[in-house]
Amino acid sequence: MKSFQVTDFKTAPLTEVEPADAAAVGTQVLIKVKAAGVCHSDLHIWEGGYDLGHGRKPLSLKDRGVSLPRTMGHETVGEVLAFGPDAKADYNGDLKVGDVALVYPWLGCGKCETCLAGEENMCLKPNSLGVYCDGGLCDHMTVPHPKYLLNLKGLDPVTAAPYACSGVTTYSALKKVESAFNTPIVIFGAGGLGLMALSLLRRWAAGCPSSSISMRAKREAPSKPARSPPSMARRRMRSNSLRRRRRADPRVIDLVGNAARRSSASTA
Ligand SMILES: [Zn+2]
Ligand SMILES: [Zn+2]
Repeated sequence: MKSFQVTDFKTAPLTEVEPADAAAVGTQVLIKVKAAGVCHSDLHIWEGGYDLGHGRKPLSLKDRGVSLPRTMGHETVGEVLAFGPDAKADYNGDLKVGDVALVYPWLGCGKCETCLAGEENMCLKPNSLGVYCDGGLCDHMTVPHPKYLLNLKGLDPVTAAPYACSGVTTYSALKKVESAFNTPIVIFGAGGLGLMALSLLRRWAAGCPSSSISMRAKREAPSKPARSPPSMARRRMRSNSLRRRRRADPRVIDLVGNAARRSSASTA
């Protein structure tokens, strides 16, 4: 078995290690990794924290209970090699040896009310794979239970791997504006999340008669020079334009989250 681990926050490249071969015990499932995505969060995990911006204190992963060494990787697809002895008895899905599956990584404690309600991603004692527990930057990996594996049934592993992170993140955002797919949807940010949101939206809103996508790159606007008060005619034009915009009622999905974006969103 081979894996790539963070052994020191920020100070060292990932370390290649060769631990003993993994085996599935209890309810675990052993998979052979076929695709492992690298998320921007992995850079922050390697750095040991997040700069939260706006002058706030950086978030320290060590303070949040992330310990080292850690194999990162929360966008993983693997082929099922073996089930632990208790896995089958506790699982009523259709997964079998040889199937290729996406690993759901956002695990919780598995015991609290939130976890038992099926919302492990909201658990206050997270066990996320690739963050608090070892993830998929390796050739073999054990997943705690078959219920965390989604049978891909022929989908391409490399395409599907990011669905575990940018896929669910943007799916969740789009779900909140689903009822407004017939009005303009503005997406800020054309990185991994933004492009994933676009590709999901393309398929999802395909039935919408007016669906079209325009991409506009925009740098931060320079500060505007002071102007004299607008004329009455200009004020009227502006108020008509505002009324038209309100009728269109655009929905904004901000995948950047900085102050400049928030102010553009509020004037969009
Ligand atoms: Zn991620
Ligand atoms: Zn929990």
